[in-house]
Amino acid sequence: MKIAILPGDGIGPEIIEQAVRVLNALDEKFEMETAPVGGAGYEAHGHPLPDATLALAKAADAVLFGAVGDWKYDKLERALRPEQAILGLRKNLNLFANLRPAILYPELAGASTLKPEVVSGLDILIIRELTGDIYFGQPRGVRTAPDGAFKGEREGFDTMRYAESEIRRIAHVAFQAARKRDKRLTSVDKANVLETFQFWKDIVTDVHKEYQDVTLDHMYVDNAAMQLVRAPKKFDVIVTGNMFGDILSDAAAMLTGSIGMLPSASLDANNKGLYEPSHGSAPDIAGKGVANPLATILSAAMMLRFSLNRAEQADRIENAVKAVLAQGLRTPDIYEEGTTKVGTKEMGDAVVQALR
Ligand code: NAD
Repeated sequence: MKIAILPGDGIGPEIIEQAVRVLNALDEKFEMETAPVGGAGYEAHGHPLPDATLALAKAADAVLFGAVGDWKYDKLERALRPEQAILGLRKNLNLFANLRPAILYPELAGASTLKPEVVSGLDILIIRELTGDIYFGQPRGVRTAPDGAFKGEREGFDTMRYAESEIRRIAHVAFQAARKRDKRLTSVDKANVLETFQFWKDIVTDVHKEYQDVTLDHMYVDNAAMQLVRAPKKFDVIVTGNMFGDILSDAAAMLTGSIGMLPSASLDANNKGLYEPSHGSAPDIAGKGVANPLATILSAAMMLRFSLNRAEQADRIENAVKAVLAQGLRTPDIYEEGTTKVGTKEMGDAVVQALR
């Protein structure tokens, strides 16, 4: 098993270092190779996604990514900005499924804006289709309306569309992920108004025939938004299209209130994936040794579960993270009175210790 390690910029190298230490502390050894990406890629090779970095990512079984971006690159032309590296990797690796767990450990329940009893122990997974829908549909643009009530007026327009195969492949990812959890899947659509999402609903229902051990229900997106803040713990796995997923996954992430804790994965059709924390490169705290490495460590656990088929090792890491939180250790972003404040490396040390 080969893992491409792409630390990136800002706090990326600091948090990745801790995740690599955690991986090295497992019984099984993985081959890891590091390459520059983002601003670091630009500095080393004049491009945010250097050819050698892309080749390494393609050849590896999985990619562990830190974060990219720094204000000092804001003046570069768009194609050379660090953030382009993520888009390039998604496109070149055909990463069409975005998995974002929203987990709120009981010890951190105070960090949420919702009442602790509503969110404490929250553990849901949002799966967002990443390469289709109205974000990519053609035609799109601004034109003079050719007909209708606003004929002759300027209008903006986009195209919402999903091909059957696109819906099928994301549905398979979702059912398979649900199988690894509580076996409940909610497909979120807007079938009452949109043809595309009636079609979505029909196809997801059809794919369900292959996963009779998983319970499927359907929910309109407006209701899903409401339920996410009303009773989020009712959900297990949610699957939805690109636009609805964009909105719902951010809302779900914020339920937990602690951005330094949230991992994410982007997968292709063969479960090869790119794993990264949900947060950015946090240039404001880079180099200070205070960044929370847990989102990245938990991303490594997701990588073991989804791409490397090592569920037991993933469980071990997740349990080690729970153990350090139970010990009261906190980086500054999740610190509360009565707990012990630690830095990035001490948090990594504690997870490694808990693994043993
Ligand atoms: P950010 O997520 O980097 O930071 C937002 C806030 O959260 C900051 O106050 C930061 O200090 C804090 N924070 C983030 N991660 C943390 C951690 N692990 N521990 C403790 N605190 C943490 O978002 P931003 O400030 O809007 O963006 C900074 C840079 O990151 C920009 O260049 C942006 O383009 C880039 N970015 C990259 C990614 C990515 O690599 N996937 C995602 C989002 C933003």
